[in-house]
Formats: sequence, C-alpha cells, structure tokens
Amino acid sequence: MGFKQKTIGLIGGMSWESSLLYYKIINQYTNDLLGFHNNAKSMLYTVNFEEIERLQHSGKWDEAARILIDASKALKLAGADFIVICTNTMHKLLPEIQKEVDIEFLHIARATAKEIKKDGVKKVALLGTLFTMQEDFYKKVLVDEGLEVVTPSKKDMEFIHKVIYDELCLGVVKEESKKIYLDIINSLEEIEGVILGCTEIGMLISQDDLDIKVYDTTILHAKEAAKLAIFN
Ligand code: GLU
Repeated sequence: MGFKQKTIGLIGGMSWESSLLYYKIINQYTNDLLGFHNNAKSMLYTVNFEEIERLQHSGKWDEAARILIDASKALKLAGADFIVICTNTMHKLLPEIQKEVDIEFLHIARATAKEIKKDGVKKVALLGTLFTMQEDFYKKVLVDEGLEVVTPSKKDMEFIHKVIYDELCLGVVKEESKKIYLDIINSLEEIEGVILGCTEIGMLISQDDLDIKVYDTTILHAKEAAKLAIFN
C-alpha cells in the first residue's frame, strides 16, 4: 500500500445503536474508495450511555467530560491518529476535552457544514437533542460556516428530544414518531435542507421521506472520518 493509512479512534456508546452505523459506514466507505479487501483501521472505545445520559440530564457535564477525556487519552495511547466522537450532543464538551488531550478531533458539525456548503444550501433546520438545538455550541459552528439555522418550536423540540432518548437510543423505531418528525420538518418555512443533528435520527427518517435535502450527521461524519484516514 503506497500511503500511510491513519487509525481512527471512535468514542461510541452514545448510543451504541448509532456506533454500529458509524462502524459500518466507515468500513463500507473505505472499501468503496480503496476496493479489494480494504477497510478502515480503527478502535472503538464504548462508554456506558446510562452513565452519560444521567450526567447530561442532571447537569453534571464536568463528570461527563471526564469520561470522554479518559476515553480520548486511552485511544491516543493505543495509537489513534485522530478522534471521532460519535454523537452530536457531546461535542458540547469538545473545548474541555481538547484542553486536556492533544490530538485531532473531527468535528461533526464541521463535517456536516462542509457537505451543505457543497450543495450551495444556505438555510437549514436543525433537529437533535434539546442540548444541541437550544444551546450555542453546535449552532455557532454552523453559523460560523455561513449557514442560517432554524429550530422547531419549544413543544416540537421537546417531542424530538423525548423520542431520541426514550425510543431511538433504545433501538425503538415507531411509525407514529416518524410521522410527527416529518410533520415538524414540513411545518418549517423556507428551509432548503434539514440536519439530522442526532446520530440516531437516521434510523427514523432518510432522504426518501422528504423533498428538501437531508443531511444525516452520522453518515457525513463517518464518511469524513474514512476520507481523513486515507487522504489525510
Ligand atoms: N446520539 C445523540 C446525538 O447525536 C444523542 C445521544 C447523546 O446525548 O449523546 O446527539
């Protein structure tokens, strides 16, 4: 092989349902790019989502950051060349993590914005957890990339959040939740695209369900990781 293939360090388990998708997409896409028996070199460090979810909802973000800092250090020590945090929400803690671990992190919102800009799309809706939709840490990255970001009403955001934690992160996919998600997206005016800004939403909706462009952060982040490992 005439190039140095980088090793991807994945921090998964948030939830493991979407880590599974990351693993599959990264390897499939690497094989699409390189052919033969090629797959990605990677390591997956899986945290326990029960611990993470409790810390998130009780506002103990420092403790959650500590878990991800330890995971990042372990992956670096084991030989990862860069790290992929397999969730949108936990990018909230990236500044704290980066202060303590000197390694490249592939930001999920930046990977997503890259694709949106390629399409010439400007105004997008953002769906995700309440943390991702309401706080600034995620939207700011998109806005800094020149995008206009729209979020649903408070009531709709609460429904989206509940479905993520009570259904999708448990592997439960319900037709009635899908219908309400689609109604919420279709009620937003003048958007050219929608960001599935939670790594499990792709289990519920895809490009086939909508006329506007769908940006699935799991697919975009995973593919960007596969490319970075090859073309660095
Ligand atoms: N995987 C989800 C996300 O992308 C939610 C779970 C979490 O809180 O990490 O935000």
